[in-house]
Amino acid sequence: MEVKLAETAGFCMGVDMALKRLDRLVDEAGQRPIYILGPIIHNPQVLKRYAEKGVKTADAPEDVPDGACAVIRAHGIPRQVEDALKARDVVVKDATCPRVKKAQLLIARYTAENSELLLYGEADHPEVKGLVSYAADGHFVFDSEEALAALSLSSGKRYVLAAQTTQDRVRFEAMARRMEADPELDVTVLKTICDATRMRQEEASELAGEVAFMVVIGGYNSGNTRRLAQVVAERGTPCVHVETADELVLEDLAGYRTIGVTAGASTPHHLIHEVLCALGTL
Ligand code: SF4
Repeated sequence: MEVKLAETAGFCMGVDMALKRLDRLVDEAGQRPIYILGPIIHNPQVLKRYAEKGVKTADAPEDVPDGACAVIRAHGIPRQVEDALKARDVVVKDATCPRVKKAQLLIARYTAENSELLLYGEADHPEVKGLVSYAADGHFVFDSEEALAALSLSSGKRYVLAAQTTQDRVRFEAMARRMEADPELDVTVLKTICDATRMRQEEASELAGEVAFMVVIGGYNSGNTRRLAQVVAERGTPCVHVETADELVLEDLAGYRTIGVTAGASTPHHLIHEVLCALGTL
């Protein structure tokens, strides 16, 4: 049996930078306890490792005590929360991915002049909550073309169309083209989808076309990992999404001649390595 690993499997630039920043903070650990505002990335195994080093995860900004250091995760946080923390005796360390930061700033700039934000994303995702907080003049979050079509847009208003960085580029661009082609609408489209996501999705789809079975590794709560599994499923290739190697049911895979492996942008290399080792025993 042959195993093919996607070149793009594993940490993206934003996650890598955020974790290196947190590692430095842990190493320098002064008197201030370190809190992460929400999970720094969507991977339970990585979070467990930091918890063992004494890093705490705060569910809400009020849970960060005065005197502590608060780390903003790769997905970013709402600007009001950041401002409130900075107004207290809390040292804020910003580990927001530069691409998410760029999306926040683009939204702030382009909505500043009476434009409503239309954001393609998952309304309850932390990145989306952060992004919409930068919209100056109202926002609407939608997760499908149908939801966007059901919205009654007004010809007298200006709109800014953007997407959560990890959304599907092909779907977003199709929606953007349709809106731009409507002479009644005044819409500015922002390019906020991250290349790392696109490259992972394209490679996953390509790999799925070459192999008989796919394994996608990453947190179940990781949006970009779930979408990789979706891309593979759309290609019609049987697939399993696992967080760790011990979740693989190896007997079920023994009959496949080629297996492709990819992993979400928040999946550490040691988890990928463990899956490859497990598949190597087949
Ligand atoms: Fe940043 Fe892209 Fe990684 Fe998201 S997927 S953290 S936007 S590099």
